[in-house]
Amino acid sequence: MTNSRSSPRRIGEFALIAKYFAPLAKGAKGAFDLKDDVAVLELPKGAKVVAKVDTVVEGVHFFRSDPPDLIAKKALRVNLSDLAAKGAMPLGYLLSLSLPSWVGNAWIAAFARGLAKDQKRYGIHLLGGDTTATPGALIISITALGLGTAKKTPRRVGAAPGDLVFVTGTIGDAGAGLAVLKGKGASLTKLERNTLIRRYRMPEPRLALGRLIAPLVSASLDVSDGLIADLGHIAEVSHVAIDIDASCIPLHKASRKLWGSDAAAKAAAAGDDYEIAFTARPRARAAITAAARRAKVKVTQIGTVQKGKGVRLLENGRPVRLKRAGYTHF
Ligand code: ADP
Ligand code: MG
Repeated sequence: MTNSRSSPRRIGEFALIAKYFAPLAKGAKGAFDLKDDVAVLELPKGAKVVAKVDTVVEGVHFFRSDPPDLIAKKALRVNLSDLAAKGAMPLGYLLSLSLPSWVGNAWIAAFARGLAKDQKRYGIHLLGGDTTATPGALIISITALGLGTAKKTPRRVGAAPGDLVFVTGTIGDAGAGLAVLKGKGASLTKLERNTLIRRYRMPEPRLALGRLIAPLVSASLDVSDGLIADLGHIAEVSHVAIDIDASCIPLHKASRKLWGSDAAAKAAAAGDDYEIAFTARPRARAAITAAARRAKVKVTQIGTVQKGKGVRLLENGRPVRLKRAGYTHF
């Protein structure tokens, strides 16, 4: 870790952009090697651009001592996860950096390497951005642009009574990983601890699946604040109630081991999953199952949409009281 009192070497603003960021823009014709004021995207006629910005802040979303390449990947992936939930295909991204003096060349080089790897993985390029100095915390803001693929881009609005509620992957892994980073998990094996930590540090945006299910869903979002909280957003704007069966929530066996009998409630309230939660009419079930198989992503039905309001987590048919204060407004 770098000492905050002594500033490491850092090259000037334009040299920094040319050395570390221009290579990431190679391959995006309209980025002009980051030598102009703007990027220009030429889109097919009738194209729908799906746009999202997410900011991560040192001390809030990551620690100064975290590996810079992982910080970069997570900052990018949380945006791609939003695109995934809306069935959009990533087109590219813009990067805004506010750099405190402790960030030197080596940190930026590692950060850029992380971005380069994920650009390859997702087939996108850096389109532009902004770089400033700051007397405060390191702030990274990424704007992702995607191409909407569905005739109707999935929204939070649209869930109706009688719909089924689904979720991708396993829920709570990242929350369990954070607990492990904070010192919990003595009963877990090293492999189990590392698996959970990895799920916290490295979201897996469900882009392929998101695209396949976009025409099938009635409402969809990515789970970033916690399953119950995020389904609450769908319930609120769709003017419906959502009932979740705690025993149906897909859990990783390591988080089950960590949390014991509390696992489902803990997982449902933990953040950072970056899975997709969605609702769909019952007749879409077979097509959803086929999409899950094709994208090789687990999809699990966890509940139903009802008349009313709010999200209820049910255990043996009885509502579970969630301790976390953030969820009392349900
Ligand atoms: P302006 O003077 O309009 O603020 P800049 O000098 O900040 O423009 O940026 C010059 C070019 O470098 C622009 O193409 C901009 O998109 C790009 N750029 C600046 N910072 C970044 C960054 N962090 N990541 C990617 N591109 C950047
Ligand atoms: Mg600028």
